Amino acid sequence: CGIVAYIGHRDAYPILLQGLKRLEYRGYDSAGVALLNGELRVYKKKGKVEELENTLTDQPTKGTVGIGHTRWATHGEPSDINAHPHVSQSGKIALIHNGIIENYSALRKELTSLGHTFKSETDSEVFVHLIEEIQKNEHCTLEEAVRLALTQVVGAYAIVVVDQDAPQQLVATRKGSPLVIGVGKDEYFLASDASPIIEYTNEVIYLNDQEIATIKDGALSIRNIESIPTTPYIQKLDMEL
Ligand code: GLU
Repeated sequence: CGIVAYIGHRDAYPILLQGLKRLEYRGYDSAGVALLNGELRVYKKKGKVEELENTLTDQPTKGTVGIGHTRWATHGEPSDINAHPHVSQSGKIALIHNGIIENYSALRKELTSLGHTFKSETDSEVFVHLIEEIQKNEHCTLEEAVRLALTQVVGAYAIVVVDQDAPQQLVATRKGSPLVIGVGKDEYFLASDASPIIEYTNEVIYLNDQEIATIKDGALSIRNIESIPTTPYIQKLDMEL
């Protein structure tokens, strides 16, 4: 139900937690984060953001790249396992998703026949397995694998993906579900709406349907579903904190 992501020079974890709290008003049943710091760490839990936070007090939470999610279950009961982020077969790619994948059951069957095993009952988990499967077959970038995945996925989504093998990178896309990119100084904030972003920057980009945003080594680029680069329109928000 709520998405937050950060890439930049600060520790991502406190920014993600704060952002998830700002999105609490949307309603949710579970929360989770994934952090990149050399390796990928995923923490997720049924219940409040505060509960997640309390269980992580003695866990490593360093990393300047991270994604966070509050879930409102549509497929699969609220549980620790069904909470986002979901990880790929290799465990290297993590994804958060808002929305519904309508053809997840057909995709899951196909991916299962290709050797993928699923941990959760969610529709969302197929997305990250599909991305990894495409990357394996096409030997392409994460961005390209996400783009190709969109040609197979039917439904509504806002997703953000991180990959342990691409440590300074975030890839995000959407269709039907909102996604906003906050442009800071050498840092970017992504969220379902501007409320987690406005305390850091008032320059935002509203991603259009089926645009793929890639933030890599400090630079943002956006492509459409045909892989044609588009020029982001940066809006200045005039909002009071
Ligand atoms: N359909 C997904 C799930 O049930 C995402 C729900 C959401 O938008 O929070 O896990």
